[in-house]
Amino acid sequence: MRAQLQDFINEARHNQDILNRHQTLDLQLIGAHSFRELIQHIFVTLASICELDQVTLCLVNTQHNLQEMLADLKIDRNEFPFLLFANSESDLQLGGKPLRKSVVSAYDAEQHHSLFAPCFEMPKSVAIIPLIRQTKLLGCLNLGSKDSERFTADMGTDFIERLGSIIAICLENVINSERLTQIGLTDALTNVSNRRCVEQRMLEEIARARRQHYGIACMYLDIDHFKKINDIHGHQGGDEVLKEAAKRIKAELRLSDTIGRFGGEEFVVLLINTNRENARHVAERIRRSIADKSFLLSMTGLCEVTLSIGIASLSEDHNLGEIENAAQSLLLRADRALYEAKEQGRNCVRESVED
Ligand code: GH3
Ligand code: MG
Ligand code: MG
Repeated sequence: MRAQLQDFINEARHNQDILNRHQTLDLQLIGAHSFRELIQHIFVTLASICELDQVTLCLVNTQHNLQEMLADLKIDRNEFPFLLFANSESDLQLGGKPLRKSVVSAYDAEQHHSLFAPCFEMPKSVAIIPLIRQTKLLGCLNLGSKDSERFTADMGTDFIERLGSIIAICLENVINSERLTQIGLTDALTNVSNRRCVEQRMLEEIARARRQHYGIACMYLDIDHFKKINDIHGHQGGDEVLKEAAKRIKAELRLSDTIGRFGGEEFVVLLINTNRENARHVAERIRRSIADKSFLLSMTGLCEVTLSIGIASLSEDHNLGEIENAAQSLLLRADRALYEAKEQGRNCVRESVED
């Protein structure tokens, strides 16, 4: 009798413990402020609290907009190997049927392999949970266990359905909120960062460069005789030149670098973990990518474009003064170097001599 009572108490404690851990998980998922934080909770916190051996998340990526969001957030795909993408809702079928209800079953290579492809070992049993918001399939959460009895067709799916609903809401929320933030930090014409964003990032990047002891460089770029381009090709032609120039500049940069439109036909680029020599190479590459290939405008045809670039850098041991002052002076030096490039004939790169 006493032993039986003790068993009940132990079981009650165990259940309370599970409940507490699931509450912790819910709070962490709901409290995630960013896409990165939410994904980390799914792959790390969820996996550990629910004692899962495999967790992957597959998101429907219509028009590749999620991949763009990851690039904006500077998230490298390698950071989250268990994050997968499907091109459309219909790509997420299981056994020829659209995924509208959770599937809890033994692992079946033919049906489930693609969802667990990045895992080192395939699970023995799986729960595939559709993430649905207002009838729209956002993706699926895929849980795996090496225990073949963990997920069986006859088990109750209440917990799993609830988890799916919470994660779907959280995902929709963070994606919307990241989009809104991005809109406030993006230049609407060229889709690169706006001035406010670059100024903010500059402070963050200088602080980080000081902590981690690496150099950064700043480029000020200005399209040559842009007024003439507007005169010849019209304002719309000028706008197309700005868009294409931003695209070509961006193509020469790394994911960790920042490009922003500072106003009119002026761009600023921030190169992270870069020494002066590297910065010169990148600047020269950008200059050539603009000058060497004519721009094709929709109304008026071909247009020759060049730009001038001023560079200033902060070496890896810069540590003097307030970060705001360091940022301002970096920008000012790049602007002065740009002025020299303009003075000395345009379509060239000049560098500030101070460091
Ligand atoms: P420089 O080689 O010395 O840089 O000469 P510039 O003609 O490029 O420079 P200036 O600063 O004299 O002229 C910039 C022009 O850019 C003037 C302005 O009308 C035009 N501009 C500013 N913003 C926009 C825009 O959003 N779209 C278009 N099409 N033109 C713009
Ligand atoms: Mg200008
Ligand atoms: Mg100009």
